[in-house]
Amino acid sequence: MSVDVQPSHIDQIKQTNIGLVYRLIDQYGPISRIALSKKAKLAPASITKITRELIDAHLVKETEFPGLGFRGRPAIGLKVDSEGWQFLCIRIDEGRIVIGLRDLSCNLVVEEQFAFSVLQGHSFLDCLVDKIDNFFLRQQATLERLTAISITINAIVDPINGVIHSSPYYDIQNLPLGKFLHQRTGLPIFLQHGIAAWTIAESLYGAGENCQDLIQLVIDNNVGAGIMTAGQMLHAGNHSVVEVGHIQIEPDGERCYCGNIGCLETVVGLKKVLQKSYFLTKGYSGSLSVDLLCQSAIDGDPLITEVIYDVGERIGRIMAVMVNIFNPERILIGSPLNSVKHILYPVIQQQIAQRSLPGYSQQVEIVATQFDNTGTLPAAALIKQALYNGELLIEIMQG
Ligand SMILES: [Zn+2]
Repeated sequence: MSVDVQPSHIDQIKQTNIGLVYRLIDQYGPISRIALSKKAKLAPASITKITRELIDAHLVKETEFPGLGFRGRPAIGLKVDSEGWQFLCIRIDEGRIVIGLRDLSCNLVVEEQFAFSVLQGHSFLDCLVDKIDNFFLRQQATLERLTAISITINAIVDPINGVIHSSPYYDIQNLPLGKFLHQRTGLPIFLQHGIAAWTIAESLYGAGENCQDLIQLVIDNNVGAGIMTAGQMLHAGNHSVVEVGHIQIEPDGERCYCGNIGCLETVVGLKKVLQKSYFLTKGYSGSLSVDLLCQSAIDGDPLITEVIYDVGERIGRIMAVMVNIFNPERILIGSPLNSVKHILYPVIQQQIAQRSLPGYSQQVEIVATQFDNTGTLPAAALIKQALYNGELLIEIMQG
């Protein structure tokens, strides 16, 4: 029977196992082969084979570590060998780009930020490639073995095929960015929506660590969510994102850029929250920033506190529905409004308690994301994920 097992299936098992072993070494290293075998639930012979391959590829190295070795000799453990391996992380925002070089343990080697605009007569791709080329030129002395490039952008993307379908800020139509950059550099290219990548980062080494089921809600100028269910990102393999921002909450409200009327984002998107606060507090001089808004709420300004309450109630109603569908262990909130979380979270919690199944709502906790909405850590998480699922390890080992 085993003769008929398809090679692709064997490859898949091999990839999964090698990813698992690498992940355990990364998380628990230095770790002995025996401990590894127990944690991975793989036979010692398989562990020996896989770790030899990882050592040969310079992805893992042996190290002595203080512990009870045989006859008092120091124990030999394995740890990740990230020296010399690097990858490039790119974050594209509205009018801004961040390019970071990291080692395989995700530590930042160097990061640069630039204003980013597409000049008349140029394409988005030309301008992006120009920024990357210039970065490489400037950082030539710092560059070592470059293994992959990962990119995050808040746009409609197809992560499997590396295509950006469209963007709210840039003139892009079905741009095969992954294919283009791969042909140019020969490297594996990873592309993901900014919020989905941020949720992956939180689940790997942030506020969602060790959570199998979580919802991350982002309240910024855009409102969106990332959902992880049974340890897998919802929609990770296609070009959909969880569009909570475009759920209608005010049928008589403003027209949204998506074409509908009264979307959540037209009410609780931070630009709108600021406009509303400014309108309510005409007495304030100067322009109102999110920081100032939060400070006013902390100082007990009743009008601003009311605005925060309103945001919490509206968000809470939508989250209650999501709690009923996904039964998350944790809800992460990623927002500049986290500085008034003592006001915001109880209101959201109350809505969830009133409106979702008590058995679900009682066990869910609302916490702030560990990272903020800047920098290239979400892009780095895509690389980490590709190492842990074995995909990138296999690519590196095949050279
Ligand atoms: Zn909309």
